[in-house]
Amino acid sequence: MNVLQPEEYIQGVLAANRRMIARTITLVESSLAEHKAVAEKVLQGLLPHSGKATRLGVTGVPGVGKSVFIETLGTFLTGRGLSVAVLAVDPSSARSGGSGLGDKTRMEKLAADPRAFIRPSPSGKTLGGIAAKTREGILVCEAAGFEVVIVETVGVGQSETAVADMVDFFLVLMLAGAGDELQGIKKGILELADTIVITKADGENVGHAERARKAYETALHMLAPSASVWHPPVLTCSAMAGTGIERIWEVIRDHNEKMKRAGEFEKKRSEQNRRWLWSLVEEGVMSRFLNLPEVKSLLEKTLRDVAGGEITVAAGARNLLFCLDKRLKT
Ligand code: GDP
Repeated sequence: MNVLQPEEYIQGVLAANRRMIARTITLVESSLAEHKAVAEKVLQGLLPHSGKATRLGVTGVPGVGKSVFIETLGTFLTGRGLSVAVLAVDPSSARSGGSGLGDKTRMEKLAADPRAFIRPSPSGKTLGGIAAKTREGILVCEAAGFEVVIVETVGVGQSETAVADMVDFFLVLMLAGAGDELQGIKKGILELADTIVITKADGENVGHAERARKAYETALHMLAPSASVWHPPVLTCSAMAGTGIERIWEVIRDHNEKMKRAGEFEKKRSEQNRRWLWSLVEEGVMSRFLNLPEVKSLLEKTLRDVAGGEITVAAGARNLLFCLDKRLKT
């Protein structure tokens, strides 16, 4: 990659030049040290122009209808004159070589929309790494003037928690089942949701969807903290028929207003930033630790000794951390 001056990226993004937005995100995603140094300057320059978008997270199992939903919602929003950026966090595509959310054939209509911008998942070894890059991607899109930024993720591992922690509003898409709605639902997902949307509420599925809506409503009711400014509603929609989409946008707007009025909006964003800072520090400390030559040479043996019961786990950890203690003393 041919690296430009920081100012060229900054000006290109602020001018909302598509090619430069894409190039800047590629730069930000790069793990090469020389790219990182430029990326940091670029992000610093873009920071004052960021923060103004409505940040939405969308999750759901494969097949729930995420792409059709985002395409329909995105098109609805651009139809109202809003600009929309879509970013993806897909830890599985990093592993499988990109057959997941990054698939270019998805959201064709939205991709061709001049008010929309779609970016597939960054590659990365750790979810933390992918998530950090997506957070920076959000800042770039905001500086470019996008009014709504949608972050999409599949429910793999901790990716939902990571995405919920970088957006203002988190939508959990669910399929209507055959009356066994709450079985097999991932633990913790209800707590993350600002709304649950039952998808594919069309044709013969309308009745199922309504029953599922009631079941989730009851479940959320039992969970709801009474003092909170927001009680997650359960909605239904058919992204294919285009029904329920406008209502979902109204709910998002309502949440935004209520959170702002209660002073919760800024609080949530600043807490997210604080956790982001800590996760970067933790990841940095861990990678520096694992890169110490003494740790590298000791690690395998320690793991073997612990597994074989020759030394205790505590002793193994102490041996490894001793490498760090010695470094910190010098
Ligand atoms: P994703 O894997 O979550 O992104 O799901 P997709 O958006 O690719 O949708 C999965 C399947 O569900 C596709 O075959 C879609 O055509 C279908 N689908 C998506 N939305 C709807 C809907 O609103 N109604 C119906 N009947 N089918 C839908």
